[in-house]
Amino acid sequence: MKVRRLKLSGFKSFVEPAELSVEPGLTGVVGPNGCGKSNVLEAIRWVMGESSPKSMRGAGMDDVIFAGTALRPARDFAEVSLLVERDAGDAQGEGALPAGEIEVTRRIERGAGSAYRVNGRDVRAKDVALLFADAATGAHSPALVSQGRISAVIAAKPTERRAMLEEAAGISGLHVRRKDAEQK
Ligand code: ATP
Ligand code: MG
Repeated sequence: MKVRRLKLSGFKSFVEPAELSVEPGLTGVVGPNGCGKSNVLEAIRWVMGESSPKSMRGAGMDDVIFAGTALRPARDFAEVSLLVERDAGDAQGEGALPAGEIEVTRRIERGAGSAYRVNGRDVRAKDVALLFADAATGAHSPALVSQGRISAVIAAKPTERRAMLEEAAGISGLHVRRKDAEQK
């Protein structure tokens, strides 16, 4: 799976709609302190289904919504879209999401929680989690190296390190389905 484009609106410091295209190869995000580099990476993790506000550096999930400044009022929603290209080898999974280019969108309204869309169609959070897990990526993918991540890998417990290896090996999707099957 390849990331092609990221669109943000009302997400953290990205109050005005912004679009970033991602070229093939390794991507680095550079800029002065506080310009929003970490926010870009968090947006990618968030649209992939990140569910922990703490790992988004907030107390609650509404904290990802632009909180306002002395000059601009706060927003009441945030929306992030990620355009990805699914490789032929990415599993289809149940529900058969389309192959090729797909756009995944997550939107949060203040006080009302998140909703997800794939190519404009409403989907469940679980569908998005499976979509990325099957492509061996996702909110906790080792491909997204955020601040503090290197030391976290070194300090990780063996079980946590195993989870990282499973993500990298592309078998986390199996765990999601097993958990799901156990609940049924
Ligand atoms: P550093 O180089 O220090 O790591 P950075 O480029 O990673 O900086 P970020 O942490 O991405 O910077 O961005 C921090 C900025 O985002 C701060 O100015 C902070 O006030 C702003 N910010 C974070 N959340 C919100 C929010 N909900 N509303 C408005 N601004 C926000
Ligand atoms: Mg940072």
